[in-house]
Amino acid sequence: MSNYLEKGYLEVSDIIHSFPSEDEFSVHPVAISECVQEIPCNPCVSSCPTKAITMEDISSIPIINYKQCIGCGKCVQVCPGLALFLVFKNKDSYEITLPYEMLPLPKVLDEVYLLDRTGKRVGTGIVKRVKQVEKNTYSSLITVSFKEKSLIYEVRNIGVKNG
Ligand code: SF4
Ligand code: SF4
Repeated sequence: MSNYLEKGYLEVSDIIHSFPSEDEFSVHPVAISECVQEIPCNPCVSSCPTKAITMEDISSIPIINYKQCIGCGKCVQVCPGLALFLVFKNKDSYEITLPYEMLPLPKVLDEVYLLDRTGKRVGTGIVKRVKQVEKNTYSSLITVSFKEKSLIYEVRNIGVKNG
């Protein structure tokens, strides 16, 4: 694993080995985890309705069983570390659902900048869904769609275009 603590972000090479196969995220969205620090935290585990997330103990790294995940997004909403995402291949495009804590929220069909883990623009995408938080302790969920498969490994935030 790269020295993410020094850099402040993960690289694709850090997550690719545990990424689900395209078959696993072509039927419905599947959760992926970029939670790599062993800290006492587990709301992802307790939020999951199918028990798809397990941890050896409260400070372990969460493991997602892709076959058990139904892509509901509850774990993404409750994760305080913004470390969980949903990935999906939807016909001829790819989608990522990410936790979003900025305001105003983008709207469905808005074109937005796609940002990588460093905040760099790596393309543009279309907002497919917006799920606004019901409680301010949770994150809103934004789903963006794009054509390039490689971006499913890169895009972890969005930037709203002005006007
Ligand atoms: S998306 Fe839903 S089913 Fe999948 S791991 Fe998260 S909470 Fe569990
Ligand atoms: S809720 Fe988020 S930060 Fe906490 S263990 Fe789960 S994935 Fe990691």
